[in-house]
Amino acid sequence: MTQNYRITLLPGDGIGPEIMAVAVEVLKLVGKKFDIQFDFQSALIGGAAIDATGEPLPAATLDTCRNSDSVLLAAIGGYKWDTLPSHLRPEAGLLGLRAGLGLFANLRPAKILPQLVDSSTLKKEVVEGVDIMVVRELTGGIYFGKPRGVFQTETGERRGVNTMVYTESEIDRIGRVAFETARKRSGRLCSVDKSNVLEVSQLWRDRITQLATEYPDVELSHLYVDNAAMQLLRAPKQFDTIVTGNLFGDILSDAAAMLTGSIGMLPSASLGVANPGVYEPVHGSAPDIAGQDKANPLAQVLSAAMMLRYSLNQPAAADYIEQGVLQVLQSNLRTGDIMSSGMTLLGCQAMGEALIKCLET
Ligand code: NAD
Repeated sequence: MTQNYRITLLPGDGIGPEIMAVAVEVLKLVGKKFDIQFDFQSALIGGAAIDATGEPLPAATLDTCRNSDSVLLAAIGGYKWDTLPSHLRPEAGLLGLRAGLGLFANLRPAKILPQLVDSSTLKKEVVEGVDIMVVRELTGGIYFGKPRGVFQTETGERRGVNTMVYTESEIDRIGRVAFETARKRSGRLCSVDKSNVLEVSQLWRDRITQLATEYPDVELSHLYVDNAAMQLLRAPKQFDTIVTGNLFGDILSDAAAMLTGSIGMLPSASLGVANPGVYEPVHGSAPDIAGQDKANPLAQVLSAAMMLRYSLNQPAAADYIEQGVLQVLQSNLRTGDIMSSGMTLLGCQAMGEALIKCLET
């Protein structure tokens, strides 16, 4: 029986429309192969939305997203909008989307593809086989805690304040996503905190340890964030799934991503409870190469594969896309960001066409 899904496309700015066009072609093809019907709706976000409507996240965009099964986002931002006040900048559209859809869990895979092992700045024997999923809490912690601000003290100097805060329910919510994710992978979960210094981390460790009793099939370990950062660089293969709060996750997910050495290859997912998830590449809108047919579309394509796996429950179609990406790299085809000697350089569109050819056969 044909499965039907409503997908909101948010191409955004810069290279966004170029890489989104490739992902849509890939989804259409995979849809035919796996009997999946996609009903695509495009909506405005970021700079493109500011130009058309004056605001970075028009209400109509949020409505369209809420009424869909999943959202595929490319990237937002660019020099043109950099001088606008912060609430009117493209980034405000992204934050508004996360808040409006209640996206509290950010899933960031960092996987070394065998064909790109030499792209890493670390030694081949250290990174070969790395396959990590960082689960980062996205709507709590120090980025949102109150009080916050810069205040004048009685002595006249200024004092900057932010507050790291987590409630038990916030920890349990992200903890469950992490245990479920680890269960679908190799069954190992490492929780990262700073419970030797921070009370909020002591509560974090307490709740995660308690939750582990509900997931006896998942092997739980704990690390302090400073040690986790060292271990990620020293011996990254020891990690499978990592769960951590907003601040630590922000830093560790970028560090884990850089183990792969190729920003144009990294997808991500942001998930909530009732609303659709948002799938997007980790990279930005790359204004320096926008409109030049130089972008690597594979992170966008892999984001579409993640969407099929995590929101649409179509793991076979996701596997099929991921295998196609490996195959295209195996054929020694590369965009500029992952180019190395002996490889054939392709533009964004040609890389998309090569991938489609691989997927067709
Ligand atoms: P960026 O990720 O856009 O670019 C960093 C570097 O990586 C650039 O040299 C760029 O050309 C290259 N690059 C990025 N994606 C690539 C791809 N798919 N193929 C080939 N090369 C690629 O980061 P930046 O330059 O710091 O930011 C540019 C704009 O993007 C800013 O306006 C920023 O606010 C925005 N941004 C948006 C998001 C998002 O939409 N989620 C994330 C980060 C940055």
